[in-house]
Amino acid sequence: MYDVTSKKAEEFISSEEIRSTLEYAERVKNDGAVIDGILAKAREAKGLSHREASVLLACDDQDRVNEIYRLAFDIKQQFYGNRIVLFAPLYLSNYCINGCLYCPYHSGSDMARKKLSQEEIRAETIALQDMGHKRLAVECGEDPVHNPIEYILDSLDTIYAVKHKNGSIRRVNVNIAATTVENYRKLHDAGIGTYILFQETYDKTGYEYLHPKGPKHNFAYHTEAMDRAMLGGIDDVGLGVLFGLENYAYEFAGLLMHAEHLEACFGVGPHTISVPRVKPAQGVDPASFHGGISDELFAKIAACIRIAVPYTGMIISTREGKQVREKMLRLGVSQISGASRTSVGGYDEKQSEDEDTRQFVVSDTRSLDEVIQWLIDTGYVPSFCTACYREGRTGDRFMELCKKKQILNCCHPNALMTLKEYLMDYAAPATREAGEKLIEREIETIPREKIRSIVRKNLVNIQEGQRDFRL
Ligand code: SF4
Ligand code: SF4
Repeated sequence: MYDVTSKKAEEFISSEEIRSTLEYAERVKNDGAVIDGILAKAREAKGLSHREASVLLACDDQDRVNEIYRLAFDIKQQFYGNRIVLFAPLYLSNYCINGCLYCPYHSGSDMARKKLSQEEIRAETIALQDMGHKRLAVECGEDPVHNPIEYILDSLDTIYAVKHKNGSIRRVNVNIAATTVENYRKLHDAGIGTYILFQETYDKTGYEYLHPKGPKHNFAYHTEAMDRAMLGGIDDVGLGVLFGLENYAYEFAGLLMHAEHLEACFGVGPHTISVPRVKPAQGVDPASFHGGISDELFAKIAACIRIAVPYTGMIISTREGKQVREKMLRLGVSQISGASRTSVGGYDEKQSEDEDTRQFVVSDTRSLDEVIQWLIDTGYVPSFCTACYREGRTGDRFMELCKKKQILNCCHPNALMTLKEYLMDYAAPATREAGEKLIEREIETIPREKIRSIVRKNLVNIQEGQRDFRL
């Protein structure tokens, strides 16, 4: 039985409700009046239910699909403007006791195993700082012997402690396996940003097939992880589905039901939603799963998520190439990774790369500076902002500002100030020149004179060597 406030995974992600949603969506997908009613509601930018959004996803009238794309772009602009936040993943260890069929780190794989020492993590952090990164997403396999929670906590301390030249990592998001309330509390106390856990698939039968062994086999424990994270004090959580594993429409409805559940139970929906697609990796062939997701369908899924959950940060990684990422930026994506290495110890040149430990093949292999230049050229403001959680704007405090469309008053100035830092410390000459021009143009678009003058003053301070200004 479907119950959005239930604590049980099979009730708040009820398969009956998903199947009935998909049947309804198929039934009305060509009913112009129904679609137009949903689009009218979507224009209010207050979100859509999983049923309404599923109808939009099923709709194949090209004019209305184009309207969905326009709306997704508008909504992203209203909430987050033209800034794009950058981050990089940092793989700590590929030891893993789970059996995920789509991941080369699974316990039966013959991939070489590697776990970074604290000294190696320091070296990786320096290498990432030297590129210009300020925000990381820590990734780690599940292995209570090799990667216990103490190892993660030590690693977080190490990362936050490294101050190299003008560099610092100011926000570390954590993507580790589902764990206990007690461990979530430890992560919260260690000062993590967002806790990210991909559901992979919301289809319980498919989930159990894809996760044949290890703790991750337990669908309920995995699906209820965000509730435990919230109970442990982490109020910024990031959802995601690995599109291409199972039926995309089922995943889409499940993902939105998960967001609705978090809102109903905790008053805080997902801080971020990631949209990865299955990619080739050692021993992993995407064609062996439910079927590919075309670029066009992938774009439609992203646009419908943006419309359904206007407040959420949407993330796309370097799993996707430049062309797809460019398209997704226009459809609501607000965060991207740049210059990612998906191997353990991939950033520091001194570390051995003899053994391939990549979790997946990166499609966008550009340097961070090339990504920054590209964003500037395509009309976006690259941002290294990490201000919110450092200013206590997390959970419901963040959501209140975001839903009132006021977070943009922080995002845009912070983007300009952190971009200025990047230009001063890391940019190639051409990027610096383009970036300085962008900043001059963008300052004029800050609506309040008082904020404009604060930003101007801080830009001068940054030019003179000071760092880390934020609103
Ligand atoms: S997806 Fe995560 S849990 Fe599964 S095998 Fe890979 S690292 Fe382990
Ligand atoms: S102000 Fe907050 S929401 Fe905006 S970019 Fe910075 S951290 Fe993100």
